[in-house]
Amino acid sequence: MTEHQPELSTSDQMIERTVSSEGIQRWLKISAAWLALQEPEHLFPTLVASFAEHLPPVRAVMLWLVTTGGLQPVAHAGFTIPSAISEHWLRVRLQPGEGAAGLAWQRETVIQQHGEHGYRELQGIASPQTQTVFQAIGDLLPRSLMVTAVPLRAGHTLVGVLELVSNASEPLGIEMTDFEVIAGIVAAAIRNAQLYDELRRSHQRLKAFDAVVTSISTAADLPDLVQSVLTVVLELTPAQSGALLIFDPAQERLQVSAWCNIELTTLSCFDQVSVDASPCAEVVRYGQPAFRPLLDEHGESALIEAGMAAAAYLPLLAGGTVTGVLALFGDIDLTKAIDKDMLMPICNQVGFAIANVRLYEDSQHERRKFHTVIESIAEGVLLCDRYGRLTLANQAAHDLLSCATLSFETPLATVPDLYDLRDLDGNALTPDDLPFTRALRGETFYDYRVMRCLPDNSERFFSFSGAPAVNEQGEVEGAVITFRDITSTQKVQRAKDEFLAVAAHELRSPLAAVRSYADLLLRREQQREGDHRDLHGLTILSQQVAHMLRLVDNLLDVSRLDAGQFDLQHQQVNLVGLAQQVIDQQRPSAGQRELLLETESTELIVTCDAMRIRQVLTNLISNAIKYSPPDSVIGVRLRSATLLHNNTPAVLISVSDQGPGIPPEEQERVFQRYYRAPGRRAEGLGLGLYLSREIVQLHGGQIWIESREGQGSTFMVLLPVEQMQRSRTERMNRSVELSAEI
Ligand code: ADP
Repeated sequence: MTEHQPELSTSDQMIERTVSSEGIQRWLKISAAWLALQEPEHLFPTLVASFAEHLPPVRAVMLWLVTTGGLQPVAHAGFTIPSAISEHWLRVRLQPGEGAAGLAWQRETVIQQHGEHGYRELQGIASPQTQTVFQAIGDLLPRSLMVTAVPLRAGHTLVGVLELVSNASEPLGIEMTDFEVIAGIVAAAIRNAQLYDELRRSHQRLKAFDAVVTSISTAADLPDLVQSVLTVVLELTPAQSGALLIFDPAQERLQVSAWCNIELTTLSCFDQVSVDASPCAEVVRYGQPAFRPLLDEHGESALIEAGMAAAAYLPLLAGGTVTGVLALFGDIDLTKAIDKDMLMPICNQVGFAIANVRLYEDSQHERRKFHTVIESIAEGVLLCDRYGRLTLANQAAHDLLSCATLSFETPLATVPDLYDLRDLDGNALTPDDLPFTRALRGETFYDYRVMRCLPDNSERFFSFSGAPAVNEQGEVEGAVITFRDITSTQKVQRAKDEFLAVAAHELRSPLAAVRSYADLLLRREQQREGDHRDLHGLTILSQQVAHMLRLVDNLLDVSRLDAGQFDLQHQQVNLVGLAQQVIDQQRPSAGQRELLLETESTELIVTCDAMRIRQVLTNLISNAIKYSPPDSVIGVRLRSATLLHNNTPAVLISVSDQGPGIPPEEQERVFQRYYRAPGRRAEGLGLGLYLSREIVQLHGGQIWIESREGQGSTFMVLLPVEQMQRSRTERMNRSVELSAEI
């Protein structure tokens, strides 16, 4: 065995060299045809055929190209490789130094070897599979031979190796220096074809991608989408049949959603089976594609029986999540012929499309559920966005507002008279007092009663509740309002008020007379000498009559308020002294409870109606006694403060107890006329807090509650130090504003 190694020189230098032999002229003519061929599938067989044809001693020609996996055979001529070996030959990847071609590649120089013991012997050490192929090829060739391996270099890039096997006894028929020049042309033609092929592939991929995107964007629903994607993919690949499997992560199951050129029964190994039991479990688990022959042990026998030999399973990915699998089936060449680089972006696109459709379907489902719930509510429900524009109104809202169409475009606050809402006295609500505006301001309110005048001049009363809709960052994004028609209740209430006003009026004088006589008899009994057998009875009589008179007085106050005859007699009052008097008066009924007065000074002078403010304090302290446990402490605190909205000086009075507390949803209601919390057994008409609020508001002050259920209540009263003339709208509840200030 001999080895010929001509001097190493680059092909550029070779081209520069003057070559004038006859042989080279001939080869230049032959090579002109190669450069005209752009497609690798035409060029490679033509190249090898040219050498086999024009170099008579050559018995075999093989073209090897450099790939990332090693030198790969792409064409041969001069001899026929039987189909049994052809498969294996095409799969050979020579590593640097393996065989003559691998050696030429490693050394980047022409390798020429003579041998008397056949092709296999000349190839040296290689992997066992490659040795088997070399052996099989050697069996087709003469024993005495010469192997010439010429590196193919295009510029600085080595693109492959041309391997010629010729009879050992005959000269090759071409000068080696000429051959090197020709090799440069061969390399240029190959590079050209490779670039052309890359361009053609990316064009094909782009077209394929475009086709899939079009089919995704035009699909009506998920089944339509997967079916059209599968059809497009099958046109783009050499697969004979295929299926699109959707993965249900909740149930860990696969489902065949689309199939083409195959019976659904043949796909039973995928349909409605748990992922782990399916042939593509690993593809779903790891999100990696798998290309392999079909195997009985993978449960793919039905596919084999249907004439398929190999499968390509590609995950459909949405980000890192597998939403399904594209399964393609075909003959054994399928695994080689599949263009993974083309299919993966398509699969990602489909993966995202499936995820989007799912999200959309889920949100539609939730939406329908939400609508059913909203529509089934008998109360009117309105939602608005952060700008106060209506975004949703249920049928009850339409019916209650007697509007065929509610205004969805205009922010409600910009047209306050749109639904003509008024307060209970008939004054139009200002934009600030509209239910939506209150909720958008961040207020949560219950049972906000308003009136609406209809075109026929009839009045309807509504009770509104509302709350802001807040996002995760705590920003107000909109508001939710519910409301119901309370016209009939309101009418009954009016009738009741009128009746009670008359009854109270009629009862006041006889009761006052009874009280005077009861007090007189009591005093006489107390002064009488001897045993006081009637003292107990007369004391109870006097207390009960006093209580009845208080109730009647409260009722009369209500009717005075309704008639606008609730006049205040202002005077300068030291609130500390007043509070002390009320505490002293209440002490006998406080039992074991401790009544504490806490003030920052002995004098806090305000201009107010002393009798009415006394009524408020009495009411708050007697409630604290009524609703708190026997051994608890009741604290009355007074201190200076400021009204935020007009920055005027004020006094803040608080009455705290350790009673059951008042839940937030009741805190507004307890100020309503006749409201009494359900289940409270303490006596009363539910007028005390209503009158207290009216009195405080008539003084230009505010009253509100700070309480949590089970943790006691604190009633806060803020009274301006000076009195000024105020309109009714100014008296509207500003408790939120105020609590911020204190
Ligand atoms: P009355 O005490 O006559 O029922 P009020 O108007 O004074 O009427 O009070 C209305 C309701 O408010 C009461 O029925 C009670 O449920 C609740 N309430 C008032 N004060 C307190 C308090 N200190 N603690 C708990 N609940 C109270």
